[in-house]
Amino acid sequence: MNKYNTVNHQETSKTICDSNTALFSEFSCEGVKMQTPAESILHSGYFHPTLRYWQTCATDLRPDNLIYPIFITDSPDAVEPIGSLPGQARYGVNKLEGMLRPLVEKGLKCVLIFGVPAKIAKDERASGADSDDTPAVLAIKKIRSLFPELLVACDVCLCPYTSHGHCGILTEDGAVNNDASCLRLAEVALAYARAGKCIFLV
Ligand SMILES: [Zn+2]
Repeated sequence: MNKYNTVNHQETSKTICDSNTALFSEFSCEGVKMQTPAESILHSGYFHPTLRYWQTCATDLRPDNLIYPIFITDSPDAVEPIGSLPGQARYGVNKLEGMLRPLVEKGLKCVLIFGVPAKIAKDERASGADSDDTPAVLAIKKIRSLFPELLVACDVCLCPYTSHGHCGILTEDGAVNNDASCLRLAEVALAYARAGKCIFLV
């Protein structure tokens, strides 16, 4: 056991303003206080009450702990049962409210959006992933307007939108171009963020 395992951590942290109104994070560990300028603090992922709840020592199982996956297709009025997932379906954007409202009323706090378009044009750079009318973007806007308290997570993925079916940008010889792929995934994440405040799974 190393020394870090034997320390009885009693840590607290808070964000404060000093006398010059600059923002600091005040961090206290074992009675020693330290301050970190705001520009040095990574985003905490604490912006939403559900995210804060998930980072507590929760050991129970209830609706607050669960994420409901939504497979959103590009036919607005569609409800297409998924044979391999009994009881689940691909939904068009116009069907989201009827499907989601009973679950939110039962205590659901988070959904995860997967775009599964059937009709969208595919190309080598997955242009359809972040177009204004792509089903994931439309679903984010719809859910944010219907259920503003719901935490929305998005699968950031290129493969449903690429002509080659890979989740990235390829070089001329067919290998994955890592830098170009990361940049493209970042562009898609930005489009989803602009559609409505959300968190991402890449
Ligand atoms: Zn993918």
